[in-house]
Amino acid sequence: MSWFKKPKKPMEPPADKSRVPEGLWVKCPSCSEIIYNKDLAASLSVCTKCAHHFRINAAERLAMFFDGAWEEHDRGLQSTDPLHFSDTKPYRQRLETTIAATGMNDAVITATGDIHGIRCSVAAMEYGFIGGSMGVVVGEKITRAIERAIAQRLPVVIVSSSGGARMMEGALSLMQMAKISAALARLDRARLPYVSVLTDPTTGGVTASFAMLGDVNIAEPKALIGFAGPRVIEQTIRQKLPEGFQRSEFLLERGMLDMIVDRREMKDTIGRLLRFSVGAQHPAEVAPAVAAAAVSVD
Ligand SMILES: [Zn+2]
Repeated sequence: MSWFKKPKKPMEPPADKSRVPEGLWVKCPSCSEIIYNKDLAASLSVCTKCAHHFRINAAERLAMFFDGAWEEHDRGLQSTDPLHFSDTKPYRQRLETTIAATGMNDAVITATGDIHGIRCSVAAMEYGFIGGSMGVVVGEKITRAIERAIAQRLPVVIVSSSGGARMMEGALSLMQMAKISAALARLDRARLPYVSVLTDPTTGGVTASFAMLGDVNIAEPKALIGFAGPRVIEQTIRQKLPEGFQRSEFLLERGMLDMIVDRREMKDTIGRLLRFSVGAQHPAEVAPAVAAAAVSVD
């Protein structure tokens, strides 16, 4: 009776149209301008005509931020599939194929390096790794990056690009929200700055935790930033959502963000912010306070 039976096809993730496609020429999805690939790379994957921001990966992000070489940390951490989860295919298998495709072990790179001569602890999320979802490894790596910053007295910069918590790790992935937030509270008590950079897209548990906790929250133009997706909200409240809802500009207008910065000016802006906040500190005064905080917390 296979005539009446619809063959079940596993759900494929939608093609990521905003990524820079392979080839010599690229068509901008926003203004349809045909751009030479090298020109696009030179403008940090921002359309030279309409300033559409193409998505870039975590390594490109770090290369864009740091003055020179950087030191990567905790590269080897890998998820152990604690729930033995399986949806359309086993999570373990999904991990293996993603690791092979991206050359990364999970959805974040953490590193230390210099931004305009100021040493920083930076975490950049990778959307290409299971939608940049935050599981145990992402949580642990970001927490360690913050703790490293506290130990070495460095500012923290986290670049978010994530669909939210990783459902294949269930409650364990939700716990990362609290874990990272607690580490950021310790960073705050150590009087060290944290700059959060929200890129397209930043949603779910990442928005609901560290992405919105920056001393300064900066977004790229027209980035999708929210908790639940627009369709879910429309179905729940049974109302049509306003134009541009959950985009950077809408959130800035309503006080959810501090600024929107073009990617081509991002490094200079962060450099200025760090110089302002780090320069304002007197290490001799701060050091005893840090020691006290460390004792009271741990
Ligand atoms: Zn364009």
